[in-house]
Amino acid sequence: MRHILPILKESDTERTRAAPVDAQALEHELRASIRGEVRFDAGSRALYATDGSNYRQVPIGIVIPKNAEDVIQTAALCRRYNAPLLPRGGGTSLAGQTCNTAVVIDMSKYMGTILEINSQKKIARIQPGLVLDALRNVAERYQLTFGPDPATHAQCTLGGMIGNNSCGTHSVMAGMTSDNIEALDILTYDGLRMRVGKTSDEELEQIVSEGGRRGDIYARLKALRDTYADLIRERFPNIPRRVSGYNLDQLLPENGFHIARALIGTEGTCVTVLEATVHLVYSPPARALLVLGFSDAYIAAEHVPEIMAHQPIALEGFDLTLIENMRKKNLHPAEIALLPEGGGWLLVEFGSDTTEESVDQACRLIEQMQRKEHPPTIKLFDNPKEAAKIWMVRESGLGATTGVPGEPHHWEGWEDAAVPPAKLGSYLRDYSKLLKKYNYTSALYGHFGQGCVHNRVDFDLTSREGIKKFRAFMEEAADIVVGYGGSISGEHGDGQARAELLPKMYGTELIQAFREFKAIWDPDGKMNPGKVVDPYHLDENLRLGPTYNPAQPATHFKFPDDEGSFAATTLRCVGVGKCRRIDSGTMCPSYMVTREEEHSTRGRARLLFEMLQGQVLQGGWRDEHVKEALDLCLACKGCKGDCPVNVDMATYKAEFLSHYYQGKLRPMSAYTMGLIYWWARLACRVPTIANFLTQAPVLSDIAKIAIGIAPQRRLPVFASPTFKEWFRQRGPRNADAPRVILWPDTFNNYLYPEPLQAAVEVLEAVGYQVVVPEQSLCCGRPLYDHGMLETAERLLRQILNTLEPEIIAGTPIVGLEPSCVAVFRDELTNLFLHDENAKRLKKQAFVLSEFLERKVEHYQPPHLQRKAVVHMHCHHKAIMRTAPEEAILKKLGLDYTVLDSGCCGMAGSFGFEKDHYDVSIKSGERVLLPAVRSASKDMLIIADGFSCREQIAQTTDRRALHLAQVIQLAMHQDEKGMTKEYPETTYPQPANQPLSKVSIAFVGSIGLMLLSAILWTWRKKKAR
Ligand SMILES: Cc1cc2nc3c(=O)[nH]c(=O)nc-3n(C[C@H](O)[C@H](O)[C@H](O)COP(=O)(O)OP(=O)(O)OC[C@H]3O[C@@H](n4cnc5c(N)ncnc54)[C@H](O)[C@@H]3O)c2cc1C
Ligand code: SF4
Ligand code: SF4
Repeated sequence: MRHILPILKESDTERTRAAPVDAQALEHELRASIRGEVRFDAGSRALYATDGSNYRQVPIGIVIPKNAEDVIQTAALCRRYNAPLLPRGGGTSLAGQTCNTAVVIDMSKYMGTILEINSQKKIARIQPGLVLDALRNVAERYQLTFGPDPATHAQCTLGGMIGNNSCGTHSVMAGMTSDNIEALDILTYDGLRMRVGKTSDEELEQIVSEGGRRGDIYARLKALRDTYADLIRERFPNIPRRVSGYNLDQLLPENGFHIARALIGTEGTCVTVLEATVHLVYSPPARALLVLGFSDAYIAAEHVPEIMAHQPIALEGFDLTLIENMRKKNLHPAEIALLPEGGGWLLVEFGSDTTEESVDQACRLIEQMQRKEHPPTIKLFDNPKEAAKIWMVRESGLGATTGVPGEPHHWEGWEDAAVPPAKLGSYLRDYSKLLKKYNYTSALYGHFGQGCVHNRVDFDLTSREGIKKFRAFMEEAADIVVGYGGSISGEHGDGQARAELLPKMYGTELIQAFREFKAIWDPDGKMNPGKVVDPYHLDENLRLGPTYNPAQPATHFKFPDDEGSFAATTLRCVGVGKCRRIDSGTMCPSYMVTREEEHSTRGRARLLFEMLQGQVLQGGWRDEHVKEALDLCLACKGCKGDCPVNVDMATYKAEFLSHYYQGKLRPMSAYTMGLIYWWARLACRVPTIANFLTQAPVLSDIAKIAIGIAPQRRLPVFASPTFKEWFRQRGPRNADAPRVILWPDTFNNYLYPEPLQAAVEVLEAVGYQVVVPEQSLCCGRPLYDHGMLETAERLLRQILNTLEPEIIAGTPIVGLEPSCVAVFRDELTNLFLHDENAKRLKKQAFVLSEFLERKVEHYQPPHLQRKAVVHMHCHHKAIMRTAPEEAILKKLGLDYTVLDSGCCGMAGSFGFEKDHYDVSIKSGERVLLPAVRSASKDMLIIADGFSCREQIAQTTDRRALHLAQVIQLAMHQDEKGMTKEYPETTYPQPANQPLSKVSIAFVGSIGLMLLSAILWTWRKKKAR
């Protein structure tokens, strides 16, 4: 029977891998025949050249199919052109299985629909591009869930989970992905589409007797099973987390000849999944989390078997190094403080219908633990909010082990081996000895309940010696795991990183069985070649490798957290794909709107990396692909706050644009909105005329065209008097009191001074003398969005010089505009790294709430009985963090909700600009604007950011107030007579002063001539 199987030799796959492809003709035909998108340009290929792993292979091209027919047609054309094929989901794989020299089919954009959900039968029918959380959110309505939950649950796709046989924290309760698959609708490279699942003997006979390609596949699979059954039973480790290799055990009669499950974990090397029917499991609504602190992680691991006997729904663990890394990075300090004492922790989650039952289960375990000679420290969390904080510590594992100050970069590679849970303690001791032998360091964390532990290691992947050492370590580590009867991969798959080691685990005969299994599905070896079977070596195709030598350009920013190297910043992204979340958080608004990889933070980081490599992208700082990807970055800094490794794309964008435009004319909006400080100063000398030019019906339309502003936008009205004029007339108060500088930012000072006026009153009421700089100063925030960094540096230097005495005297500076305070707290020291006054200013700059919370003893504003909807500015969240703001809102006694609204979409000048208007509106319409519209009219709308308030004012019938105004309202509620509805109308709407008819005619014609002249000159220069 065995002889009917073709035996592929390694040399055959080598040959097919290398076969040349007429990419141009293939692209042309694809474009002509599918509905989806076809992208063979250098930018797209660079974008998909790597996944979350250490590997990099530039694809032939990308196809983004709209439906299954597109996938079928793509496969047919690839076959015609002899092109390898690689299906892809979220691209979060860690072993190199999602990058290849192939046509990549990205299912994540359009093929993510839930086709059916049957709560009675507990099944769902889904498309492969569906994000796991999208399924879980719907399933939860029926108290059901898809059990395996990778840490990437908010962005990984079901197709990718099927490809990798993914698992997660709750695999203790629900098993791996393969345990939860009923059936698959698949496509072979040679064009056969069929549904596969469990197959009874009768069905099998029937299908084989029908013949054809389908019958042939079934016959060969049966033959394969019969040939290798005994060996499979003997050599496949019987452990909860065997992910390495193909699931040939699923073909055994005792497993029902389950072809769908045999295909789970094949990493795109056998078939393309077009649709899947998955099992859903009961999701216990009431949970209790027990945290046990042991003296170290090994002792914690030794307790796993007895804890598992209590049937938790999750059992996770981590060691002290992880916590120390978090401390060094100042990551989650409040959450870490909740942990009981210890040097190694276990998180044991119980789940049930009621909290009492879950707590009872936990208490039984507590009793058992307390009877021990050396009992662990114990804390029980039955409050979901508190428990979520502990889970956050565990889930930040990867972020905590990357970019630790003073430590070398830690890489994946050996990151998910699994052993029998009963042997976990000894395995970890042996593994740690190996780390020591190689002089490597690593934190340990992961799924202790299932014997699977993660770590990232400080491999040197850039020198020949380092790579040799990496290989030697990988081989020895594999020997240790195999010695324990474990699996080289217990979660992330083999890909390229571990496939070469599979013979150690399975022996050469089973490796041949894997080869034959692949050949049954993919006789030409065109599906994701070189991964899992006949693999590339683990030390080839490295993203860095011994030839890594990126350009190291001189930069404006000093990038102190990346050793001053822009190249190092581009290595920060670890590919988690958290920036591809679409349902929560701030990062990344442009991806949330466009669902394009190039508009995710990760995509942008990848393109910057490629730009410095100069191979696929060769334009350097002038590269148009990079420019295009950065164009829709709102510079919201959402990534700096939300990304586990704090990729700071707003700063990289500013740096890039500064070089891109060197010696080149910028778009008109850069000269208008970027230089708003100077225009506003000029306009406020003649506010009536300026407002006439920007507000009068026809003139304002012309003005908007001339300066590159979207016609739908209203230009803000210039204030008269400005805040500084008002303050000068009014004079300072509290002469002998301690001084505080109130920062008169360009937006509030020149456009809407009320918040600053309110802040003066608030600060004076708490006993400060408010000081406002006499000189004209601006932090330069709008300049960063346009990469005008030289000018920005000049403005900051001017501030440092002008305010030097106050800075040295330690006078605090309160800013109302979060993005301006963020300049002092972030950009300032990144630009002036060694300037002591810059460091002082950074420490002395506060937003109002921070100042009131930190500098005013026992601050208590009057209570204000109102409901409120609060939108926090992105820079506020990312740089200053919002705990003090919430503390003040609580002290005001407001019944408030902070929206999970991400970016408002206006983001400085971004939303005003013609080409960005659509993205701006879509971003706002995601959460913020509908929430404002549906808020009852007596609610306060609170937003500290000027552009957030502007977005709200321009798209709803409400106006938002700054916190300073809300506190002022609280101080005056009895006298001010705040209206019941639209409380914001207590403050006047900005309005312009009327002009006489003669003046209108005169100013109008001058204005028109001026604008035409500007436009003509700019267009002429641009054309050059
Ligand atoms: C920080 C971090 C934490 C992680 N934590 C976990 C974890 O807790 N548990 C876990 O299991 N994994 C984890 N992973 C790995 C990874 O996120 C998961 O394996 C995830 O399920 C992959 O999904 P994806 O959509 O990104 O798939 P991709 O990476 O896009 O694809 C994965 C594989 O599936 C194949 N594939 C995709 N779609 C199809 C299709 N339609 N047909 C056939 N094959 C297809 C691809 O070819 C590839 O081989 C983690 C990764 C990172 C970076
Ligand atoms: S940018 Fe951050 S969140 Fe996005 S993939 Fe990279 S590391 Fe992950
Ligand atoms: S700054 Fe904002 S828009 Fe730009 S990449 Fe980061 S999260 Fe996305």
